[in-house]
Amino acid sequence: MKKDAGFIVKTALVFCALSAAFSFAGTLLPERGPLGNPAGGLNLHEIGGHLLWGLVAGAVFLGARYVIITGLFAVLIDSDHLIALLHVDALSRMSHSILFGAIAAAVLMLAFGKRDARLGAAAFAGVLSHLSFDTFAGDDGKFPLFVPFYNHQIIFPNIDWIYFQVAAVMVAGIVTMLATRKRKIETSI
Ligand SMILES: [Zn+2]
Repeated sequence: MKKDAGFIVKTALVFCALSAAFSFAGTLLPERGPLGNPAGGLNLHEIGGHLLWGLVAGAVFLGARYVIITGLFAVLIDSDHLIALLHVDALSRMSHSILFGAIAAAVLMLAFGKRDARLGAAAFAGVLSHLSFDTFAGDDGKFPLFVPFYNHQIIFPNIDWIYFQVAAVMVAGIVTMLATRKRKIETSI
């Protein structure tokens, strides 16, 4: 239990720091521009929605620690809005991208467990379910999803939330299936 709590806190902090750090890459892109006010994204309704969406996707992991971190990741990715406080030109919402999901998965696995595929999948599913709620919740479905290959915000209509959430559930489900199978094979040897 204590070990789980430590794992949850540490992975969540690293994910949050990574997202904030990654947003600085947005200052280097030629497509950068002035950033909006970051305070808008931080109300309770948004935080609750993101947490709920993340927990639902994470439920597929069938393990409390992974359910919780997926929920936290889905909230903490918005730390990439903090760069707006610095009044610099950047591409906004850099972490709302497939590239960030992959980087976060790789860094977390390197730091906390190279063989922990569910941890990597939780990072990726957290990002996807975050995009899902952003798309669902209204004027928010705008992300540079394919950075650095296409450095512009892509606009998704509200109804597209379902695709992001289904993708999150699938990432979690497939990795959990593979991880359980591997564990069964290992224990049967
Ligand atoms: Zn967001």
